[in-house]
Amino acid sequence: MAEDPDSGKLREQFGISQIHFCAACKKPLRRVNGKMGPFWSCTGFPDCRTTLDDVAGKPSREPDEHYCCPVCTRRMVRIEAESGPPAWICTGSSRGCRVRLRDDQGRPEQAWRCGSCGHLLVLRHGRHGAFWGCSRYPDCKQTYNDANGKPQLDIFSAKNP
Ligand SMILES: [Zn+2]
Ligand SMILES: [Zn+2]
Ligand SMILES: [Zn+2]
Repeated sequence: MAEDPDSGKLREQFGISQIHFCAACKKPLRRVNGKMGPFWSCTGFPDCRTTLDDVAGKPSREPDEHYCCPVCTRRMVRIEAESGPPAWICTGSSRGCRVRLRDDQGRPEQAWRCGSCGHLLVLRHGRHGAFWGCSRYPDCKQTYNDANGKPQLDIFSAKNP
């Protein structure tokens, strides 16, 4: 990727090794040490209010890769596990969201939410076959019938875009 002529200066100014640009206004992003941990904010602020979560020292999202956590709507990021297949984790993990989804051809697998508590449903296998139970079981005992690999209640579908 071609570097902006100002990049060297910006790297110095912001003390970072690589410049990332705002997808909305194309201005450089800078890393901010916030109270809740580091994050990235657009240098076009306050005109542009883009912020991105920090993952391993980089803004967590590249343009066109925007998948939201079905539970808390924070961004999901793809991680390459040291062993096993890649997975998607919620960037709210440091703030208590435990959502972790399998990777389905470069996207997070489809997920559904519990109609009573809003947490994720998981496919379980009982004595009478497969069914969907709440991931908060035993705190939440909501269950749904399985219909071809989906919980039978479209109204609670929380498909990722
Ligand atoms: Zn911006
Ligand atoms: Zn989340
Ligand atoms: Zn539930």
